[in-house]
This record gives sequence, structure tokens and C-alpha cells, in this order.
Amino acid sequence: MLIPFNKPFFVGTETRYIEEAVRSGKLSGDGMFTRRCEEWLQAKLGAPRVLLTTSGTDALELAALLLNLEPNDEVLLPSFTFSSTATAFALRGARLVFVDSTANRPAFDADQLDSLVTPRTRAIVPVHYAGISCDMTTINAVAEKNNLLVIEDAAQALGGRFEGKPLGTQGALAAFSFHETKNVTAGGEGGMLVINEPSLVARAEVLREKGTNRAAFFRGEVAKYNWVDVGSSFLPAEINAAFLWAQLEKLDFIQQRRQELWARYYKELQSLNAFGIGLPNVPDYSAQNGHLFYLVCRSSTERTALIDFLKQRDITAIFHYQPLHNSPYYASRHDGRELPWAIYYADCLVRLPLYTELEASQQQRIISAVLEFYQVL
Ligand SMILES: *Cc1c(COP(=O)(O)O)cnc(C)c1O
Repeated sequence: MLIPFNKPFFVGTETRYIEEAVRSGKLSGDGMFTRRCEEWLQAKLGAPRVLLTTSGTDALELAALLLNLEPNDEVLLPSFTFSSTATAFALRGARLVFVDSTANRPAFDADQLDSLVTPRTRAIVPVHYAGISCDMTTINAVAEKNNLLVIEDAAQALGGRFEGKPLGTQGALAAFSFHETKNVTAGGEGGMLVINEPSLVARAEVLREKGTNRAAFFRGEVAKYNWVDVGSSFLPAEINAAFLWAQLEKLDFIQQRRQELWARYYKELQSLNAFGIGLPNVPDYSAQNGHLFYLVCRSSTERTALIDFLKQRDITAIFHYQPLHNSPYYASRHDGRELPWAIYYADCLVRLPLYTELEASQQQRIISAVLEFYQVL
């Protein structure tokens, strides 16, 4: 039987909560389920304000709007990441200054940040790839020294930690995704913006509500609501929030399952290290969240062969992220620096199936096939 790369997990109560949302007669955003999710997530993270959004991409766009970026303002971000990390800031006309990965892990090299800061730099956008924390000590020190805002792309990072503290609470702002490929989903698409800097909360509410002070109006803080700023429509519908609520109620179960799968991969594939195959490298300051498991092959040819080998055995493994600095859209705009490690991960990294419902016997089949490919069985 085919083992897919990913399979969205249903906890079972999603449809009941969706029905509740439908019957409540309130389908647009900011209803009961949205509030429930936001309050629960605020408590879980210990963050002053969480706003559900229609996607992780939207959460990043909302963050970029909050920055009031001007054309040619600069933003530091990794090259090895999903396009949304970049488009949110490109939309505001920012110049993207891509930072290379490191030999040890796909996350960007925080030690390069200081030398890339210019008088036009406004923000740093660390991506917690695979739910493994970036080096927030160095990042926050550079940000503080140069008066920059830190926006965590925590799209993959729900449940991940930095020095014991939840990812998504380390920058002024953090964007999470509830896309169906992430640990929990809001019914396919969804996200949230975490606002850790209290002075940004009021404006974030306005930008998310089409530039109106509607949120303040409903709290009785203003007599009528008005158009007060730029903005867009970033609120998810209640049925998405209802779906997410069902998943959040089972978050501990989901995370535990995924952690078990991750730990088994890590243990059973350790022996590949001796052959020069890379395994996820979780630094001491971080705890990962069972989001994804990857191997780093020795070459792109080897990776293609491994993926084909697994495919012949009905196992779907994938690779991802063509480096953004070399992308068709940005190559001609990039400042020309070589970013060899971003290219290395784009060429050599492979992701193995990891989803909540993956059964132990299926995982064993995957592990055996990988070991067979490397002839260590
Ligand atoms: C998934 C993801 C996003 C985008 O989230 P969506 O909810 O799909 O818009 C952004 N950045 C990273 C690193 C992601 O993995």
C-alpha cells in the first residue's frame, strides 16, 4: 500500500464543531470559535495577543504591514525557505537580503547577520525550519543593537522551544501556519499572528479588519467604527476556527504521536551518520516539535536515486525549497553574494513521510527501505 508523504489528521470532532458554528448563525470571523482558539493559544504560548488569520502567508503579510516598510528598506531572511517568507516583504517593496544556511543545519546563519545590517535594515525574519529553533540569542542581540524588529516565521514551529520557551514568543511578532501540511490545521488553510510587543496590538487589529477599528467598537471602546488605517481582510471564517478548535483540543496527542515517529526515525537511522548522511541537528538551546524529519544526502544524484528507490517501494519522499536568492523572481534583484549552503540543502535534503496517523509498521517499512538503499541492512 502506498505511503503518502503527508495525510491530514482528523481528530473526529471537527464536523461537530463546524455544525455548531453553522447553527450559531454567525459564520464570518471573530465569532465564538475564533475567540476560543485565540484565548487558548494566548494562554498556551503566554503571549499578549494572538490573531487568527486565513493563512501563515497572511500572518506574515500582516506583520510586514505593521512594520510600515518603505521601498528599499531591507529585511534579513534565509534563502532556504518557503516563498511566503519573502513575498510578504517583497509586496511592501522591501529589499530582501538573503542569509545563507550553515553546514550543520538548514536554518540561517545568525553569525552573518551583524555584517549584513545597513542603515536601511528594518527587520530580521528567522525561520524555525522543522520546528527547530534559530539562534535567538544572537538574533535578538543584533536586533537590539541595531533597533530592528524580529518577526519569527514560526509556520512550522508550534510546540517547538528555544531555551524552554515556546517558539513564537521570541520576536516582536511571529507567524504560524495551520495549513494541512502542518502539525494542526484549520481545515486546510489557516494561520495566526502572535503579537508579543503590546504596542503593536491595537494597529494589528485594525489592519486585519480592513483598516477599521471594528474590534475596538465591539469591545465598546469607540462609539462608531471607522476607516482609520490601511488594511486588508485576514480573518478566517468561523468554520475554519471550529475545525482548528477540534485540533487544538487534541494538540498534546498529536504532538506526542509525531514526537514518537520523529524519535524512531532518529534512532533507527543514526547508523547513516557514519556514511556521511546528515540527520536533523537540534542545537542544545532548542527542542523540536515533530514537524518534519529530513536526511541530507551526499549529492543531488544520490537524493534522486533514494527518492526513486523509495517510490518503487510505494513510499513517497520529497525534497523542497529552491533557494530564493536564485529564484526566477529574485535572482536578478539579489545582491550577488554566493549562498552555497542554501544550494546544498536544496540539492541534498530529503523529507521522509511523517504524519500523525503513520503506523509503526509503515514507518518500519520506510526505515528498512532507507537502510536497504544505503546497504546497511
Ligand atoms: C507553511 C509555511 C508558510 C506559509 O504558510 P501558509 O499557511 O501555507 O500560508 C510560510 N513559511 C514557512 C516556513 C512555511 O513552512
